[in-house]
Amino acid sequence: MTSIIHVAPLHKPAEGAARRIVRRLPEIFQIPAEIVTLDIDLKKAFNPARRQYHSGTILAALLERAPATHGKVIGVTEVDLYIPVLTFVFGEAQLDGRAAVASMHRLRNSFYGLPKDEDLAFDRLEKEAVHELGHTFNLRHCENYSCVMHSSTYVEDIDLKYPTFCRACFAEIKR
Ligand code: ZN
Ligand code: ZN
Repeated sequence: MTSIIHVAPLHKPAEGAARRIVRRLPEIFQIPAEIVTLDIDLKKAFNPARRQYHSGTILAALLERAPATHGKVIGVTEVDLYIPVLTFVFGEAQLDGRAAVASMHRLRNSFYGLPKDEDLAFDRLEKEAVHELGHTFNLRHCENYSCVMHSSTYVEDIDLKYPTFCRACFAEIKR
């Protein structure tokens, strides 16, 4: 039984975003969440050719630095994340593991040349964080369009779903 979710801002610019989402996670997962400060060197994940950060390297660093032998840890960042087979990812997680990461980088309207809406960006980050943490609870993608575990390729997909799990997914988490 997972007792806590640790939310780790991976650098100073992500601290505000981490504080916003840590308040929302306990109600959704029905377990406590708290901010932790971990010594993660983002430079190690930087790929100069892509000018992006390798999310798998960040997950490995999070696991190494995670505060205890129990609980989940999600890193929050502003940098652009990628996995080798995709141009970018909003986040990544270990399926049925402990670590997840989510980025604000592509969640802001300003990234797409649209008017600034910080509340919308934080709503998107909340959904992305819940989604990635859902994977750490061994959840796969869900067919239900409104479920947070529905797969999102674009921010418009994120906007279509709720920050919460459908009944079937939530039951799986509570198992
Ligand atoms: Zn996913
Ligand atoms: Zn679902």
